[in-house]
Amino acid sequence: MRFKRNGSYTLNRKSKTKPNGKKPPAEEKKQYLEPEFTKIRVVDFDLKELVVLPREIDLNEWLASNTTTFFNLINLQYSTISEFCTGDTCQAMTACNTIYYWYDERGKKTKCTAPQYVDFVMSLCQKLVTDEEIFPTKYGKEFPNSFESLVKKICRYLFHVLAHLYWAHFKETVAMDLQGHLNTLYAHFIVFVREFNLVDPKETCIMDDLSEVLCTPAPPPAPTPAPSAPASAPSPSSQNHVTER
Ligand SMILES: [Zn+2]
Repeated sequence: MRFKRNGSYTLNRKSKTKPNGKKPPAEEKKQYLEPEFTKIRVVDFDLKELVVLPREIDLNEWLASNTTTFFNLINLQYSTISEFCTGDTCQAMTACNTIYYWYDERGKKTKCTAPQYVDFVMSLCQKLVTDEEIFPTKYGKEFPNSFESLVKKICRYLFHVLAHLYWAHFKETVAMDLQGHLNTLYAHFIVFVREFNLVDPKETCIMDDLSEVLCTPAPPPAPTPAPSAPASAPSPSSQNHVTER
């Protein structure tokens, strides 16, 4: 069975060059972990049911359909705060204690501002998901051998954008009352990439504290303290220099 996927996407973002004199938020405290925010979701059911491969659906079709949808939704979510994500406010693509560097097509490492990085991510994703050779929509057209690795690449970059939204723009998201959308999108995305092993856990571990809270189905009335493995939090000084895979 084939899904019909929409092949046209608009990068709906406002100009990022507008200086607004805002300082980067000092997120010593992770506001997004406060219970008053983590309890806000748009949907409240087990997201796992949404992500498992339905019977009779081709795996690649399922990955293509979901990846395309996540690209569109994350692009849209970013567009809601893009006017606050400028070369002044976000001089580097940061999330927790990580700085992401962009690697160009020749593998050259580039330091860039967050809006530049997001622009690179969205342009690349758009190019890939609309490429008929990579994300075929026509009946009988095969997915290329590189399909899975390209899906992984897209998901890894989309994760960086989500992490940056929480780390640097959660206050603005709350000001617009969009935290429920962000939480739902994030949880859905994480449950999806975990289901199909699309992003290396070493990559997503910087947000494990949030993932733990948001991706766990509603807690039972009388929670029993499960023996939990010691949290393997990344050392505060660890800088995750992203490498191409
Ligand atoms: Zn930013």
